[in-house]
Amino acid sequence: MNAPDHEPIVSIPELLAHALELETESRERYRDLAQCMALHNNPDVAALFEQMAGYSELHARSVEVRAQGYSLPAIAPWDFKWNCPEGRETPCLDDVHYLMNRRQALELARHNEIRGRDFYAGVAAFSPEPEVSALAREMADEEQEHVDLLAQWIARELAQLEVLLEDLDPPHIPE
Ligand code: ZN
Repeated sequence: MNAPDHEPIVSIPELLAHALELETESRERYRDLAQCMALHNNPDVAALFEQMAGYSELHARSVEVRAQGYSLPAIAPWDFKWNCPEGRETPCLDDVHYLMNRRQALELARHNEIRGRDFYAGVAAFSPEPEVSALAREMADEEQEHVDLLAQWIARELAQLEVLLEDLDPPHIPE
């Protein structure tokens, strides 16, 4: 694993401050995505994103509980804004309400869950403090579960697409 492009996180309050930003951003993005999918008649994906927003909300609350009694450092909020999967030319965050389809929405979510996981995994690997590493490892594992869940949904989308394409094939006529 490459060293992260930020200073190593050395204290629990620092880790909690970052986690709070990350979870709050995820919750907002998932709510946007859920709304978008609901508008486009994708109630099942909308429900998934509502569920993910709920997880982020729960994580944020549990981070706040852990943070009681600490004063959390202020961090640059742009550190944890979601971004678009690399090389993607189709509309991404700003146009979330227009042209995004199910598959793009799921991939956008997976991409950012992977970023979250990698952030925590990087802290776990590089923090000099064992206590910080252990908590970051726990958080990385939770993010991995989200990555896996989204990967399952994407795999299902792809499988459905294949069935659709097969149906479109002209029947095979022997000569
Ligand atoms: Zn997550």
